[in-house]
This record gives sequence, structure tokens and C-alpha cells, in this order.
Amino acid sequence: MKISCEIAEDLLPLYLEDTCSKDSRAALEEHLQGCPACRAKLERMGRPLPEVQGADAPRLADYGRKVRRRRRQTAVLVLVITVSAAFLLALTGLTVREMRRPVHVPTVEEGTWNLTAEDLETTAAAVDGYVLYTNYAQIQVTVCSEAGGAVLLRDAASGSMIQTAEVEGGTDSCTFTMLTSARRYIVDCGDIDGGAAVTVSEGRSFWRSLGEVLRDLVRL
Ligand SMILES: [Zn+2]
Repeated sequence: MKISCEIAEDLLPLYLEDTCSKDSRAALEEHLQGCPACRAKLERMGRPLPEVQGADAPRLADYGRKVRRRRRQTAVLVLVITVSAAFLLALTGLTVREMRRPVHVPTVEEGTWNLTAEDLETTAAAVDGYVLYTNYAQIQVTVCSEAGGAVLLRDAASGSMIQTAEVEGGTDSCTFTMLTSARRYIVDCGDIDGGAAVTVSEGRSFWRSLGEVLRDLVRL
């Protein structure tokens, strides 16, 4: 179909936006093949006219659509990554805060070591002289000794044994779990070399704190 330069000019913006009908596109492309003036106009309007035959033009439009789709996909991907990174960062921040949170440090009776407030650093020989309080349902014992050995957890009131664990030579830890803030505990390093350095703490760990944070989130 032959069209005039005036009609071609009207169609150029639609052609550039890729919104004209198939027939208009075909007619315009046919016109452009034979009209340097309108080709120049198209070039001025922003997109250089590709030196292609009519048959290649649809492929070109396809290419344009693909580029736009890829740009959209990239934008969505960037958004997803940004949101995920922000979420992970927030979660890590909350977890670290949870680890350090001075969890409502309760006042405990005199003569009891409050592990919620402060770790206990002592020796294997002296550690059973302390009555221990935990508000974290667990007690972690880190021993730095040559040979390692058994670590016992006793009930402070009755002296009866609650749990036992083993530590290896070098620096090693064991953790007693499922404890309660209602009881008081004594850690006994029994057969471990008396001079060995012993650290007793609630053993707040990243993963356990992360668990606490996630549980709080679920509860919200
Ligand atoms: Zn023309």
C-alpha cells in the first residue's frame, strides 16, 4: 500500500513506540524503503533506521521486545535481591541484639553467681565452689586443659548429679541444656587437672538466638 509522506510522518511516533497496527507498520516500512526524507526524519526522531529489508523488520521488533523484557526481569531480580538482603541484614541485627540482650537480669540471692549477668572465669579446682544461676535454660562450660575429662552438673540444693559431659584436651566446651531458672546448679570438673582454666556461661549462640528471634517474629 502506498502512503504519502504526510501519513508516514503521522505514523512515525507510533512506529517508534511499537504501537501501530501491522498494516500501518508494513505500509510505513515500504514507504521508508523508497523515501530518504522520511528515513532521515525517523533517524532524527531517535532511533537510527536499521538498514534492513522488510522481512527483517519483524525480527527487529522482536529484538526490541526481548530487550525490554530482559530489562524488566533484571529490575525484578535487583528488587528481589535488595529486599532479601535487607531482610537478612535486619534478621542478623536482631539476632546479635538478642545475643547481647541483658535478658531482664534478675536479682538472685546472695552467694549465687548470676550467669545472666556475667560469665564465670575460674579454675577446675575452684569451679564447684560456685552456686550458679541461669536464665537461659542452659549452661556452657569451656575447659582449657591438657587431658580433658568429665564435667558434672549437680543440683546445688541436694548435691545430686543431673547431667554429665566430657571435654577433650585443649580447649573444649560442653553444654548442659533443659535447665531452669528455678533451680541452682553446681559445675564439678571432677577428674580434670585442677589448674585448668574454666569458663562457665549461658552459652548464648548465634543460631539459638536466631531461633528466639524467629519465634518472636512468628508470634507477632
Ligand atoms: Zn516520505
